Amino acid sequence: MKDFLDELDLEVQGIVPDTASVSGPTGSTQLEQQNNSQHSNNKPHTIAPKKPVHNHNKPAPNDNPLVNNNSGHTQNQNTKNNTGAKKPVHNHAAQAKNNNGQAQNKRPNNHRNKHQNQHGGDTTGLPQSNKYGRKIIQFPETKFFLPTLREGYTRYIPIGGNNEIGAKNMSMVQFGDDIILIDCGVQFAEPDMLGADYSIPDVSFLTKYTKNIKGFLITHAHLDHIGALKNVLPVLDMPTLYGTKLTLGLIKKSLEEAGLMPYATFVEIDASVANTTKIGQFSVEFFSVNHSIPDCAGLYIETPGGAKMVHTGDFKIDHTPRLDKPADFERYEEIGKRGITLYLGDSTGSVTKGFSMSEKEVGDTLEKIVSETTNGRLLIAAFSSWISRVQQLIDIAQKYDKYIFLSGRSMVENIAIAQKLGYLSMKPGTIKKLTVKNTQSVPANKQIIITTGSQGEEYSALSRMAEGKHNAITIQSGDTVIFSSSVVPGNERSVGGLINRLIKYGVKIITKSDLPVHTSGHAYQEEQKIFLKLFAPKYFMPIYGDLYFRTRHAETAMSVGVKESNILLLDNGNIVDFAPNGSVFRSKIKVPIMEYVIDGYGMGLTTSHVIKAREQMMNAGVLVLQYTVDKKSKAIIGHIKLETRGLVYVDEVRYIHRIIIKKAREVFENTLKDIPDIEEKDLLKILRTDLETFILKKVDREPMIIPIITEV
Ligand SMILES: [Zn+2]
Repeated sequence: MKDFLDELDLEVQGIVPDTASVSGPTGSTQLEQQNNSQHSNNKPHTIAPKKPVHNHNKPAPNDNPLVNNNSGHTQNQNTKNNTGAKKPVHNHAAQAKNNNGQAQNKRPNNHRNKHQNQHGGDTTGLPQSNKYGRKIIQFPETKFFLPTLREGYTRYIPIGGNNEIGAKNMSMVQFGDDIILIDCGVQFAEPDMLGADYSIPDVSFLTKYTKNIKGFLITHAHLDHIGALKNVLPVLDMPTLYGTKLTLGLIKKSLEEAGLMPYATFVEIDASVANTTKIGQFSVEFFSVNHSIPDCAGLYIETPGGAKMVHTGDFKIDHTPRLDKPADFERYEEIGKRGITLYLGDSTGSVTKGFSMSEKEVGDTLEKIVSETTNGRLLIAAFSSWISRVQQLIDIAQKYDKYIFLSGRSMVENIAIAQKLGYLSMKPGTIKKLTVKNTQSVPANKQIIITTGSQGEEYSALSRMAEGKHNAITIQSGDTVIFSSSVVPGNERSVGGLINRLIKYGVKIITKSDLPVHTSGHAYQEEQKIFLKLFAPKYFMPIYGDLYFRTRHAETAMSVGVKESNILLLDNGNIVDFAPNGSVFRSKIKVPIMEYVIDGYGMGLTTSHVIKAREQMMNAGVLVLQYTVDKKSKAIIGHIKLETRGLVYVDEVRYIHRIIIKKAREVFENTLKDIPDIEEKDLLKILRTDLETFILKKVDREPMIIPIITEV
């Protein structure tokens, strides 16, 4: 599939693509320059990065690196082209209000103008103190500029989510000078992140284009779609967020915690009705899709260049969901009839055959378990965002005269928001606050405790119960624990450990391997086929998933008649441009996308020294050598002190320490003999390198070596 796609680069179809032959880092090509001077109607459309406004009486420097001065344009033309720099400060909120009337503008006027100089320029990942609060991370400046986009062309770039599964989803669409962004999720810590908290999409290349960003479209409120907004929004100068009521409600909670609410602007969209919202030059329509959190949307995006895109977000097809409406085939079909240029489809469920089970079937199973459980409590471990599952349990509790207790902070908070926004229906008193007093006042067989911790997370509510450390719940023999969840890949060991700890109490465990107590929120192959048929696109791009998942989705598409030559498999950072005549051009230029991790207070790269050092210490420990030397003669005074951690076992300590100290003295003295005036940093380097080789040879380990020289 990939080889064939590379051939697409050479596809010309009557118009010379700007990506046909690359001659420089900006992507400006010889062909393009000829075209610029010969066909003024077909001149490339430039996108102007944020720059200060020039005095137009003086010749302006070429402040748009995408425009080559040799292309025949005068400098003044360049300035004229640079609409981003000339535009007055743009008030998104005002525009948003015109479009929809529901915008809530809490942002101070002209804040960009006052503060724009504070952005950029810092090359560290440490939080900077600025107008948005103290915990705002900064991306380092990059030298990358988006390649020229021809007039009338529409561009799509996946920024995150195409090289990973269910993680840090983000993408952008560009038309002319305008950019819209879609979703902004996190990836939770992976083993290779070594102690970091989570990873976020790399938006460093976008920091130059904050004025061009017209809005952030959010498909739904899962953390792999919204979790990085609190980090990324302030970096991109707080673009307006567009989303459905529940999606925005949950985002607001996270922005409130980050202290960003005073600067955020929102436009609420009702995805259940056809309604076009104009955002910059884009016409955007949200449409409802089923998934595992209510109020999810897919996106229809149309540009004046004739590109019509459908982006599914995360989706499944459910005829009997709870809280949401059944899949709206009529609407999907109507959108499909408009002639879709590009369909971007969720690939998360693409390796599973058939249809995913309906939420109703899970509800029926849970009801059967509740009705048959006459002894002990029911503990149900579920994802805290699966609000329809909680609603089903509320329905069941009311029917069987039982009470719901919510356990775990995110569960309590998400349900409170959903209830406040009117998503849940229940009789007063059905949910009781989880306190010792309340649990003692309700008989055990009347209690349904819905808890977080289905992934065996160390400090989650269910883990604390299993450790006997939960202050309101003590697990007892006769209780039943249902895992109404799936195991997220990578969590198998921790979930297994949790189940084993729970079984020791004499509880009954039910998982989805025993009974249908959980279903997927993502379309399986048969559902993917239905969407592909209804939207009937010219081009298909599988999104969300690594190459394996996306390739499977591509195979499914081909089985329903999508031409192989029209399937686009893109990695994060790949660029595709769609011409007004519908042909596609894949750029050979790729946006450099790095892996950034949030680590406590700051941010860094997974390739950074910090993570590498952690890896080294984890694998072979640390060795610290302390030399005390005479200031003048540089001779070692007394013994060399040696401390090791995680390097040697008890029975080998004496021997290994002795040979290392002997070697450490030898290297130090020999080096000084050879180079008497050696600088300390060079001496330290030699000590590290020689000892590394020595220790590797003697004990076959590669610890981190830290020599310290103290002069007295
Ligand atoms: Zn999702």
